[in-house]
Amino acid sequence: MKITKIETICLSRPHEPERQWFTGTYRTIKADCAIVVIQTDNGLKGIGEACAYGVPPHIKDWVKWLEPNLIGKDPLEPDIVPHTNGRSWSYDTAVAGIDSALWDLKGKIAGKRVSELLTDTPLDRVRLYASSGCRYNWRKNPHQLIDEALEYIKDGYTAMKFRIGTEWSWDGVTVDKFLGLVKELHQEVNGRMELMLDANCRFTEDQAIVVAKELDKLNFAWFEEPIPGNQIDGYARISASVDMPISGGETLTTQEQFRPYLDKKAYDIVQQDVGICGITEGMRIALTADRYGVGTCPHNWHNGLMTMANAHFVASLPKPKVLELCMIQGPLQWEILKEKPKIEDGWLILPDKPGLGVDLADDLEERFPYIEGGYGIQVKPED
Ligand SMILES: [Mg+2]
Repeated sequence: MKITKIETICLSRPHEPERQWFTGTYRTIKADCAIVVIQTDNGLKGIGEACAYGVPPHIKDWVKWLEPNLIGKDPLEPDIVPHTNGRSWSYDTAVAGIDSALWDLKGKIAGKRVSELLTDTPLDRVRLYASSGCRYNWRKNPHQLIDEALEYIKDGYTAMKFRIGTEWSWDGVTVDKFLGLVKELHQEVNGRMELMLDANCRFTEDQAIVVAKELDKLNFAWFEEPIPGNQIDGYARISASVDMPISGGETLTTQEQFRPYLDKKAYDIVQQDVGICGITEGMRIALTADRYGVGTCPHNWHNGLMTMANAHFVASLPKPKVLELCMIQGPLQWEILKEKPKIEDGWLILPDKPGLGVDLADDLEERFPYIEGGYGIQVKPED
């Protein structure tokens, strides 16, 4: 069997105002998606989603550039898989899309799920956590966070991760005021869900230690990216100050990049995303981290095909924990697939089909044409 063609499908869908989410001074206005499709001479196809943070047209350009290296090759040849380099997100996400599509293809050739190719003892379902908590605006509706959490409990989710809201300086938000909201949330949830906080690298080390100590008392499952990612010693100090795990690494794409974080005990959980680093490198990172006693809970934002790749990855980990599920991506998330996989009581059931176990829906480019430009816009407090 030989690879005959590789293409990239770029898709978008504008967010309705209620689905737009905030991080600091940014508001997200659309959902994007990039899917790599590998065709073969016997009609089998492999599909893989590349994380849209690599920017779909840039991903497409890199895939086009790499395509001649793969044309005419047997998809089972191990050395055709390009390597991530840790320097260019567009390149690395393109590699991740190709890598995931090759794993899907290998599964279809072998008649096995990708998770069965990755380990002898895969799970057949993966526990999800509801990931959002980024639509509350400190000026207008901070309690939206609590309403949202209660919805997830109703829907059967057993864990939720939230963020720190709109830019604090706009509304005089302090660590104290923030922790007031966190305590209210914790009280309302009342032990019915595990909670995690993602600070998206926005705290100083001093702020992060105060927040970490409070979250530790409230039994949070983890505290993610409290400070900028390059402050490795700061991460190590925050981690040493609490029992609760400190997590990070969603932007890293090679196992070499993780070494200083592991050596210095900066992370208790690593969060490589196979849509960003590929399944092959993601598994290398996970096995290396496991050597340090560090678990993997992958970052997983965006759409359903990447969720399937990350689900097979989690199902194959030495110590599987949970998988992130973006709760605010809108119809693009699952409508790219012919059939949405089953989600029951907050668990994703891996379909009993080879490869990643899902097929692409028809006419995607007509239904979700790519919208040029960034997914986030810088806004002012009153917007
Ligand atoms: Mg994160």
